[in-house]
Amino acid sequence: MEHFDYIVIGGGVSGLVSAARLARSGRSVRVLEAADRLGGCIQSWRTEGDFWLELGAHTAYNSYAPLLEALADRGRLEDLLPREKVGYRFVTADGRLQSPMARLNFLEAALSLPFGLFKAKAGRSVAQWFSGLLGRGNYRRLLAPAFAAVLSQRADDFPAEWLFRKKPRMKTAPRKYTFTGGLQGLLEALVEGAPFSVKTGAPVQAITREGEGFRVQVGDASLSCTQLLLAVPVDAAAHLLADCYPEVAQRLARIPVVASEAMGVVLPAAKTTLPPLAGLIGDDDSFWSVVTRDPVPHDTLRGYTFHFRPGVLDRAGKLARIAQVLGARTSDFLHVAETTNRLPAPGVEHALLAGEVLDLLAREPLALVGNYLNGLAIGDCAERAVIESDRLLNL
Ligand SMILES: Cc1cc2nc3c(=O)[nH]c(=O)nc-3n(C[C@H](O)[C@H](O)[C@H](O)COP(=O)(O)OP(=O)(O)OC[C@H]3O[C@@H](n4cnc5c(N)ncnc54)[C@H](O)[C@@H]3O)c2cc1C
Repeated sequence: MEHFDYIVIGGGVSGLVSAARLARSGRSVRVLEAADRLGGCIQSWRTEGDFWLELGAHTAYNSYAPLLEALADRGRLEDLLPREKVGYRFVTADGRLQSPMARLNFLEAALSLPFGLFKAKAGRSVAQWFSGLLGRGNYRRLLAPAFAAVLSQRADDFPAEWLFRKKPRMKTAPRKYTFTGGLQGLLEALVEGAPFSVKTGAPVQAITREGEGFRVQVGDASLSCTQLLLAVPVDAAAHLLADCYPEVAQRLARIPVVASEAMGVVLPAAKTTLPPLAGLIGDDDSFWSVVTRDPVPHDTLRGYTFHFRPGVLDRAGKLARIAQVLGARTSDFLHVAETTNRLPAPGVEHALLAGEVLDLLAREPLALVGNYLNGLAIGDCAERAVIESDRLLNL
């Protein structure tokens, strides 16, 4: 049975930043990823020539310092691509584009702001805190659909302290960026020539405690490790820990998970009437948001990913709605791709559960990292990855 100092389960941003951090110590690290590609929620669909379109996460910021530091270790900061400044628009029910500012009632905002600004975010939901900040009408018209677009789910119950957490910026990097070949390329760069090994197509079926360490079951093979880091979605973590850490697993199983259905289309640039935009926000529509390739413009092609609410439209219905919004015909689409994204949907009470879980594991040789512990953003995941890896290294 092969033995490693550390096994990391999951090859998304949480797992790969953790592996990079752990491997700095010179000890042996193996990453096991179930899918045939790395990235998890970061999925850059490469179509023809140099064209790519994001089917999941699309934007990273220079406040994601732990991610940028891992990239700097690989000498790949120069492959960051700055995103051009283009705006977001709402799509109204009758198909008009509307500026977000057109939905803001300035008087309501001015009356609410002095009271809302100094309230603590901890223990409050997004709806509670942001209604207090800008007023209920502004929250309903502007912020609720905009935050739902950011989170690909209803945002009302989400913990306010987990949205837009302020972090120090690495000022030498572009403020907003992607990477050569899309954001998935950034994760691939963390792995190329790295001092840890990665195995894709390796779904872990079971974890058991063995002596001071762990045994990890992948298909017919077993691996062992001294310390284990779990970087999988919350429901997968609950399943894998059910036998060896039942108290942790029971808490994780209470954190809900939601799906959104992504459909990406690529078409000749001349075939859409839309102006250059970073994205669109759905308002009581079949989709939460649309993400475009316009911030990294291409000479001849344009690309759009629609993040649909689950179970509302079938494939034909989605294609028809996309064509309508783009002012194009479905026959104009050169390439179409579909995927289902899954994200945790925590409420305020689940943020408390996440805290309890971290306390339970504080002295254990097992670490949990991921987007259900302190926020969904890539930067939140990378930050958690560094904190937990350092905890294991110092145990
Ligand atoms: C549509 C969408 C848009 C987003 N946009 C942005 C954005 O623009 N900016 C931003 O900062 N954040 C964004 N996010 C959030 C962010 O992308 C995610 O929260 C983050 O990438 C999650 O990373 P992770 O590594 O924790 O989990 P995941 O990316 O879910 O990775 C977990 C990995 O574990 C693997 N796995 C699962 N079970 C097993 C098993 N049994 N054995 C082995 N491997 C297993 C999975 O295959 C997966 O690769 C977006 C998310 C979505 C869905």
